[in-house]
Amino acid sequence: MAGTLYLVPTPIGNLGDISRRVAETLERVDLIAAEDTRVTLKLLNHLGLKKPLISYYRHNTEEAGRQVLDRLLAGESCALCTDAGTPAISDPGEDLVALCALHDVPVESLPGPCALVVALAASGLPTARFVFEGFLPMNKKNRRSRLEALAGEERTLILYEAPHKLTATLADLREVFGPDRRISLCRELTKLHEEIFRTTLDGAMERYQGEVPRGEFVLVVEGAPAKEGEEYTLEDGLGRVEALLKEGLSRKDAVKQAARELGLSRNELYAAALDL
Ligand code: SAM
Repeated sequence: MAGTLYLVPTPIGNLGDISRRVAETLERVDLIAAEDTRVTLKLLNHLGLKKPLISYYRHNTEEAGRQVLDRLLAGESCALCTDAGTPAISDPGEDLVALCALHDVPVESLPGPCALVVALAASGLPTARFVFEGFLPMNKKNRRSRLEALAGEERTLILYEAPHKLTATLADLREVFGPDRRISLCRELTKLHEEIFRTTLDGAMERYQGEVPRGEFVLVVEGAPAKEGEEYTLEDGLGRVEALLKEGLSRKDAVKQAARELGLSRNELYAAALDL
């Protein structure tokens, strides 16, 4: 029987965030696949553990992934630790999980630190609906077209960004989203000099213009203002038809009324409502 791959989240800046389950899992597994063996070694030293390490990073995912997979298929258990935070979120862990899924190797994901969640929770911006875009493309043209595609996005937007690209990204964000859009710049989360700077895109530019800031950043950007008059989907229409059927209307009348109320095509809604 195949062993299990454990996705082991590691602190994003505060060793106090190592959970008991993380420590127990690292102690129990046969080997650890590590994005940076030096970083993981420090963690193991902190916990007083010794374990065989396999280096698994962006440029060797194919070869190292195969090695890890073979050992899992042979029944060994393996922890995956990336540099910081939750493996597989904007880091190479994603490929190893996909490989395990392909070969029916069990994967257990331990909950723990994840920069995007820590930032969103502290941002002061709406948290009910959000989109995570990870790192924007490096190439300026591609970055701009990605942002243009997101300009009308109403959900809160979360981005990872490297400090040396911060001002270029803020300039693009301001140009595409406008100067008044609110942003929370979450820097050095969980560390001694943690800072959550809540401002507008204009305010952010003013603060960071001409500066390469220190530390790591998560950018949480307010969504676009809601469009006038809500747009309804076929699913909303079916919900309304169902309610009207319960009120005693015939299918035909329920569809007619729901389509009129929600501005949907009567024929499409009728076809979709045939199974109700
Ligand atoms: N897998 C990680 C996670 O779960 O958050 C993310 C890995 S990604 C390669 C690294 C990025 O996460 C950084 O460039 C930064 O945007 C963000 N990040 C990581 N630690 C952070 C921290 N302490 N404060 C702010 N942002 C952080």
